[in-house]
Formats: sequence, C-alpha cells, structure tokens
Amino acid sequence: MRRSIPARRLPALFIGHGSPLNAVEKNVYTDSWSCLGGGIGKPRGILVISAHWLTDGIEVTAMEQPRTLHDFHEQFPQLMDFRYPAPGSSQLAARVQELLTGENVRYSQSWGFDQGVWSVLNHLYPAADVPVVQMSIHVRQSLAWHYATGQKLRALRDEGYLLIGSGNLVYNPIMADYQHEKFAYDWALNFQKKVATHILNGNDEALLDLAALGKESGLAVPANDHFLPLIYTLATRDVDDDAVEFITPDCIYGSVSMLSLALWPSADPG
Ligand code: ZN
Repeated sequence: MRRSIPARRLPALFIGHGSPLNAVEKNVYTDSWSCLGGGIGKPRGILVISAHWLTDGIEVTAMEQPRTLHDFHEQFPQLMDFRYPAPGSSQLAARVQELLTGENVRYSQSWGFDQGVWSVLNHLYPAADVPVVQMSIHVRQSLAWHYATGQKLRALRDEGYLLIGSGNLVYNPIMADYQHEKFAYDWALNFQKKVATHILNGNDEALLDLAALGKESGLAVPANDHFLPLIYTLATRDVDDDAVEFITPDCIYGSVSMLSLALWPSADPG
C-alpha cells in the first residue's frame, strides 16, 4: 500500500558554472543542469548565492522583475542580448530576511540576476517561470560565518524552495589556459579530491580553514568568491538524511573545476 507522501524537502545544489557562455551552449555540463531541473521539478522558488555578487553586508533582490545583468566586460558580445526573465519573489526575500534576523539583510532594487544565476538557470528552468531571489555574499566575513549563515537557510528546503550555490570549487583565472580545455593542473585535481573527500565524510568543518587544506589551496582558491557558494550549499545539508551526488567532476583550462554537487534528501523517510 502506498504511504502518504510527507512534505517533501527539496535538494540543494552547488553548480560549477564556468564560463557565462554556458548559458547558450550545450555541453556535458549544461546537459547535467537540464537533467537536475527535470529531476527536481518546479520548486516554489529558488534562492541563488552566486560568486558574482559581493557586498558589504547581505542583500537580497527584492524587485518583481529582476533585470538580467551582463556583468562582464566586452569579451562576450553574443551574450549582451541574453535575458532570463524569471520573476522575483518578495515572499522569499522576506523569508530570507526573517531567517537571518540579526544580520540586517537589505533589499536591493538595483541588482538583478548576474551571470552566475542565469548561465545555470537557463538550463535548470529554461521556461524562466519559477520565482528567483539572489542573495549576495558578505565580503567581510569568515568562511565559518558564511557556513553558520547557510545553516540558518536550511529551513527553506522544507518550505518548497530550492537553494543553489553557483561558483567553482577551484577557480584561478590567472593560471587558466583557455587554449586547452581538457587540461588540469595536478594541484587543481588534488585540491578538488581533498575537498570532495571531506564532503563525503561529512567533515565540512575542515573546509572552513583553507590554509589547513594544504599549499594547493592558495592556488585553487586565490580569492574565495567562487568557493563560498559551495559552503552555503553544504551548510544546508542534513547529514543524517541527505545523500551527496558529485556531478561532472572535471577540471578544465587547467584551473577551473566544473564539479557540481547535489544534496538529495531520502525519498522515503518512513
Ligand atoms: Zn563565475
């Protein structure tokens, strides 16, 4: 006999987003994002923490129709007309503010969706019919603070919201060799493997001190903007219930990890 289905907790995702051109390309990475969207189905709303919105304090997009930001210089002329017209959600923005009471979360009317949001959502939810809120990354805080902040957002998963961190586990644009996609530095692969092992062991705490992760960390994470979205996703994990799935664990151009990760709640808690 079929049991009644309990209120469904949604997965949480970390997406290794790579180039903004992924928004309009079809490749192994974008195919995997399409699959994720199809597998999860349409959530009530989506909260995205992208590497590309760094602020002093926390902000959330609070407009009804966030604009599509083209937050790069002139290297991608083919993307200048790209739009991702998903609506915003004042309800979700208010809920984030409520969950992070004490952090003085501000409503932004000036931001929108940056490349870390639309390059992946255009594949996860191509119809752009799910409300989306973007939350900024507070630049003055430690990894441990970001982890604790992410833990406070875990409740969203039980309320029908999908949480997505969008960055890259390894991201060193200075060292990248954009002439050679299928190439990875040893230090990039080693660092990714080390982080993945800690994740599999449920040892998130080890990820909050980059220096302690060894000398590769300075090369793999020269600035932590692309690493921090991973910390937010992991912080929403229920270690007793969520299964971790690693997706496309490739390093490309030497120093860009395209690893994505899904936290899947058990389908049948009974
Ligand atoms: Zn990026």
